[in-house]
Amino acid sequence: MGLSLAYKVLKDHLIEGELKQGQEICIKVDQTLTQDSTGTMVYLQLEAMGVEGVKTDLSVAYIDHNTLQQGFENADDHEFIKTVAAKYGIVYSKPGNGICHQLQLENFGKPGSTLLGSDSHTPTGGGLGMISIGAGGLDVAVAMATGKYFMKVPKVINVKLSGKLSPWVSAKDIILHVLRELSVKGGVGKIVEYTGEGVKSLSVTDRATITNMGAELGATTSIFPSDSNTLEYLKLQGREGDWKEISADADATYDEVLEIDLSTLEPLVAQPHSPDNVRPVKEIINLKVDQISIGSCTNSSYSDLMKVARILKGKKVHPDVSLSIAPGSSAILKTLAENGALADMIAAGARILECACGPCIGMGQAPKTDAISLRTFNRNFFGRSGTESAQVYLVSPEVAAASALKGYLEDPRILDVELDIQMPEKFERNDSLFVYPPADRKSVEVVMGPNIKPFPVNKALGEKLEGKVVLKVEDNITTDHIMPSNASLLPYRSNIPHLANFSFSTVDKEFPQRCKDNGGGFIVGGDNYGQGSSREHAALAPLYLGIKAVITKSFARIHKANLINSGIIPLEFADASDYEKIGFMDDVEIGDLLSALPTGKVMLNDKTSGMSIELKFEGSERDIEILRRGGYLNYAKSNLI
Ligand code: SF4
Repeated sequence: MGLSLAYKVLKDHLIEGELKQGQEICIKVDQTLTQDSTGTMVYLQLEAMGVEGVKTDLSVAYIDHNTLQQGFENADDHEFIKTVAAKYGIVYSKPGNGICHQLQLENFGKPGSTLLGSDSHTPTGGGLGMISIGAGGLDVAVAMATGKYFMKVPKVINVKLSGKLSPWVSAKDIILHVLRELSVKGGVGKIVEYTGEGVKSLSVTDRATITNMGAELGATTSIFPSDSNTLEYLKLQGREGDWKEISADADATYDEVLEIDLSTLEPLVAQPHSPDNVRPVKEIINLKVDQISIGSCTNSSYSDLMKVARILKGKKVHPDVSLSIAPGSSAILKTLAENGALADMIAAGARILECACGPCIGMGQAPKTDAISLRTFNRNFFGRSGTESAQVYLVSPEVAAASALKGYLEDPRILDVELDIQMPEKFERNDSLFVYPPADRKSVEVVMGPNIKPFPVNKALGEKLEGKVVLKVEDNITTDHIMPSNASLLPYRSNIPHLANFSFSTVDKEFPQRCKDNGGGFIVGGDNYGQGSSREHAALAPLYLGIKAVITKSFARIHKANLINSGIIPLEFADASDYEKIGFMDDVEIGDLLSALPTGKVMLNDKTSGMSIELKFEGSERDIEILRRGGYLNYAKSNLI
């Protein structure tokens, strides 16, 4: 029986286990990436492991999230990451160089290799034919220290593309359509593999837009074959030597198939507050727009921005619209500056931002109160823009630029502009903004400023857990709810004691104090708890506050892994309707834990109501061992290094 491309790459990297669905395997990690927001924790963890250097072929530390330097905090984090990178043999990408996923794609990604990143949009690398997975920071720290990553073999969904996109319809519309079809939960426990004739009409950066937003499907990762378009892209980057042709076997079998005829797609928009709340643009073109932001790791490639420049050239942004544009990398910005496209954007009235995540992570450009904000980004969760009353709509660069001129959401198919974008002969890697590790790493001193505090470490698990239900929340709680990441909090990503004071602050402001008053306790949640980002802080802040277990109807994959890594037990209701039976501030207790976890059946005694509720634990023997030891760091030190 033929293999999917995803399974072929996993097979090539198998260290332990069998490539059978649901089984735990250990794979070799070729490359890792971190961004600064999760990176400080990752490097504190790497330091705590006591290794001499990284075991991967390549590890890169990017600074792209917290680039504003209003106080000393972000600059301290950058200095810490820079020095720790030099000490352990990691490439350091300075602030201003660009967004981690765009830079990794341009400079380092290789077809057929594996990449693990402490950022949920790491699957962007799937556009180059990589198995490219977003994981918790501790997983990435362990991958750097050992070259290993443990995962469950996912199912594989085949998205079969036929036909060709019509003019003004783009890769963003393909992934918005997939989200509309499969929903934000449709990819959980799965790899999304794209095949079919339609793949040939998509460039690597188109493919990367699609694999990037595979994260919004909840997928483990997404992957495209590596073909002549991949070779063309790598040649442009001066890296044709990294190319190899890879694709699925002709008789590959898949768990699910979604067929899409690209010629039937039209410009789409994801409405607030979920990326799968998708409608055709033409149905809501009377929407008055206040702010438009173009960029992010989803849509900041050279061709994306050239299309924007072409649409804006010789015209004026509507007086009521604030348009900001953040190129994905300094190499792209330099090329736009050299070919005149940058001047066209500025002349039209665009605000040009630094090559960084910027408004995507709420780092500046928060919209005005009640604003309608159109963004080419990947997420429109409530509050993520930095303005709680704002309504964020996700669109393609073409829709964004057309709407910037009109002042209303606009269908770009009405434009009379020639969009035939010529690629330059070659992009130059901007080595002025990369710092490579020195030959002599022994003498490097790691600099830790006062904003960098040790991360919390859990204790080994006892037989019994007891406490109060200090929080009860509904379905679809995101990591942004659990640990908000607005501009005022972002500088404290390396300071968990400070951050923990704001945990769940948009849901229940009393939560941190209640935890402190009750010595921690339990959280009860609904479906898809922890969806959103790989943000480890969403597990570390509750750990710091003494949360022992989180009980939900279901979990998002990366957050569940982060809870296990922190030694917090993720449990699900055996019968989802039992969610109603546990009340806020009920006194609860779970006994016989160490013997119950391996059976998968855990009984909770609600002492307030007198009811006994059946919960389930789904995890591997290794997960149980990690929980038993009080988290992955304790486990890694004693079992892996
Ligand atoms: Fe940066 Fe936004 Fe991409 Fe995250 S989703 S890496 S914040 S651009």
